[in-house]
Parts: sequence; C-alpha cells; structure tokens
Amino acid sequence: MERTTCCVVGGGPAGMMLGLLLARAGVEVTVLEKHRDFLRDFRGDTIHPSTLRLLDELGLGRTFAGLPARRLEEMQMKIGDHTVTMADFRYIPGPHKYVAMVPQWDFLNLLADAASAEPSFTLRMRTAFTALRTERGRVTGVHCVDEDGVPGEIAADLVVACDGRDSLVRQEAGLRPDWYEVPMDVWQVRVPIERADSAKAGRVFGQVRDSRIAVTMDRGDYYQTSYLIAKGSDARLRARGIQWFRDQLGELFGWDGEVTDAIESWEDVKLLEVTMGRLPRWYRDGLLCIGDSAHTMSPVGGVGVNLAVQDAVAAARILAGPLRRGAVGPADLARVQKRRWLPMAFVQKAQLSDHRAMHGPVLNGTFDTERLPAPFRLMQRVPALRGVAGYLGGIGIRPERAPEFARRPQQAVVRG
Ligand SMILES: Cc1cc2nc3c(=O)[nH]c(=O)nc-3n(C[C@H](O)[C@H](O)[C@H](O)COP(=O)(O)OP(=O)(O)OC[C@H]3O[C@@H](n4cnc5c(N)ncnc54)[C@H](O)[C@@H]3O)c2cc1C
Repeated sequence: MERTTCCVVGGGPAGMMLGLLLARAGVEVTVLEKHRDFLRDFRGDTIHPSTLRLLDELGLGRTFAGLPARRLEEMQMKIGDHTVTMADFRYIPGPHKYVAMVPQWDFLNLLADAASAEPSFTLRMRTAFTALRTERGRVTGVHCVDEDGVPGEIAADLVVACDGRDSLVRQEAGLRPDWYEVPMDVWQVRVPIERADSAKAGRVFGQVRDSRIAVTMDRGDYYQTSYLIAKGSDARLRARGIQWFRDQLGELFGWDGEVTDAIESWEDVKLLEVTMGRLPRWYRDGLLCIGDSAHTMSPVGGVGVNLAVQDAVAAARILAGPLRRGAVGPADLARVQKRRWLPMAFVQKAQLSDHRAMHGPVLNGTFDTERLPAPFRLMQRVPALRGVAGYLGGIGIRPERAPEFARRPQQAVVRG
C-alpha cells in the first residue's frame, strides 16, 4: 500500500492548485485524476484578476501570459433594445484589469508542470477514486482503480475532495449538500467568429429577447455560446429539430443562415445541467471538501474556477503547518470552511437573485425587456457601480494571497 500525507482527489482547478501549493510547502501530496489528460471541452475557462495576481505571486505570471488568451474588460448584456454594462473590470487596482479567457486544459497543464518541479508532488492520471478507507470513523486514505482496472490503496493523513459537483468522495463520506432550485439548464455550442461579427471582442455579450437568453464569449476564432433553456426541457426542445435552434440563435443575435449552419446537428450542442448547492459542513475527521464538491456553483458570472482556486489557497495556507507536523484535525478543517464560507455564500446569493430577477422570468415569458430591473438601471446611471460589480466579480470578497512558502520569483516553467 502506498502512503502519502495528503491525497487530493480530482485534478481540476481546486485539486491542481492545492497540490502545487502543498508540494511547495514540502508536504507529500498525491493528486488522483480519473482522466488521461486535462483536455475537456466546455469547462470553465475564465481566469479572474484574483487568480492572475496569485499566479504572479507564484512566479507563474509570465508563463501564463504566454498562453493563448482573450481579455475581457467588461461584461455587457443587450436586453431588448437597451445595452447594459453589468461589470467593468478596468476599475480593478493592479496590472490585471480584465478576465483572461484561457482554455482550462492550458491552465491545468501549467499548474501540473510547476508542481512536477517539486519532489514531494505526485500526479496520478487515469486513476479514479472508488471508496474511502476508514478506521474507527476517521478517514485514513482512499481506494482507487487505474484505467486498466488495477485496484490500489493509498493511506493518507488527509483526503481532500476536489472531484467536482458530482463528488463521489462527498457521497462516500456521507456528506449531503443542500440543493437550491434553479430555473435553467444550458446548451453550449461553438459559433465560428469569422462567420459572425467581430464587434464584441473584449466583452462577454449577453442577449435577452422574447423569452430567449444567451451569452457569447469571444474565444478568438469562435464564440462559446451558452443558450439558456428551462430546467428539464432539453429532450422536448431537441424534438423540434436543429433548424429550430439555429433560427432561435439567429433571431437572437442577428446571425444569418451562413453563421448558424455551422451548427451541423444536435451533436454540436452540449447540455449542461445546472445545479447549485452547498454542504452545511465541508469536513469530517480526515477529510475535507473544497471547490465544487463543497459548493456547486451556477455558471452565472463564470466564477466557479476562481472560487475553487481561492479555496485551495486558503486550505494550503491553513493546513500546510498541521500536515507537516502530522497533526491535522477537524478544528483545522473547520477553519478552512469558516474562512471560505462568506465568499462562497455571497456569490451564491448573487447568482440566486439573478436567477430570480432575470433568468427565470425570461424563460417563463414574464420578463419585461422594456423595463430594466432597478439595479441595472442604477448601474447605467452611475458608472462607478459597474466598477464595484467588476471588483466583486473579479477580485471578490476575502481574496486569498499566495502564502510565503509558495511564492517564487517569475520563472519560465519547462513543460514536462
Ligand atoms: C459547462 C460549464 C461551464 C462553466 N463555465 C465556467 C466559466 O466560464 N467560468 C468559471 O469560473 N466557472 C465555470 N464553470 C464552473 C467551473 O467549471 C467549476 O466551478 C470549477 O471547474 C470547479 O473546480 P473544481 O476543481 O472544484 O472541480 P472540477 O473542475 O469539476 O474538477 C473535478 C476534477 O475531478 C475529477 N474527478 C471526478 N471524479 C473523480 C474520481 N472519482 N477520481 C478521480 N478524479 C475524479 C474530474 O475529472 C475533474 O478533473 C462551468 C462549469 C461547466 C460545467
């Protein structure tokens, strides 16, 4: 049986950041990731200013700047005939006055490359968590299986669940989230930019019209387009045929057939079932949940990646010492939850109120596009409020800074 100090399950943003930071603190850490690589389409690809600042502190800012990226300086939405700026990131102090749109696999590869330079770091790809090891009620490690079906067992002082919104670790630990009702699911589809228009570069552009709502994100050569549908209506709407969907998108964004014909079939349209919930308690003895496994976020505002990263930074700062001393206990784990609760709860509250004020009413046909909700009207009158929204979205409440032990001068990372 293998032994490590901290076993992290899931190599997403939370797991890879936690693995890197703990390894830099000299803690033995093993990250398990069930996929063979980080290449997955339609993941959260937004890196906010708080994470950009963190990458600078970790000495990775220069390498990150070399990745293919688009910069979003503001988020705009066209509601009926009104163009509304919902958030302006240019007010944020410091060099990063934008959200960087970077393929998530590039971001994760960067973290994996940096972590692989640390002798106490191990990344086990193609290895899936299957069950917890427990002794007298305490979690003492994991059971896992590799791609060829070979089972394994890893003993650890601490297991950290970073395995996302459908977390098996959370389930095996008997931790149950409280779920919120959400009014929508999302279809994600790529629309080639050369066939559409280039006027929206540098912005996230949402559009609301006649019970339809969608958001386009400029990804260089295509728009990553998220089209909202009423919760549970996927099969019913698909039965209307792909031409119906092309027409909906075309009418919403003013795209002609040449643009929307790029969507060849329903195969090109991926369903994201939106769920939103949080664990009342993120831990039990020997186990901690962070990121989406502790709090599943709505895609509204695109902040899930950054919250997951911030959780990882707080967890590393609070737990590195106790892990090095071999004395991590429930009180340390409770400190992580206490530290991260407010930022998570604030974002979920904002997302729920957006669902209530806009997404739900648009989808059930009761939203009046002629009369903007009061906060939007106020924001258009007072530009500084868009800056406040940009700050709260881009930096957030209680932003985490890199712990001293993880800081490095700017360096070039050799790709492993
Ligand atoms: C379609 C979509 C669009 C989104 N858009 C955005 C966006 O634009 N911006 C944004 O900030 N957020 C966005 N989000 C949310 C964001 O992706 C998540 O909040 C964020 O990825 C959470 O990070 P995480 O590390 O906690 O979990 P995840 O990113 O879900 O990572 C979990 C990892 O665990 C692995 N795993 C799962 N089970 C096991 C197992 N049994 N054994 C081993 N490994 C396992 C998975 O393969 C995965 O790599 C989006 C989400 C979706 C689904």
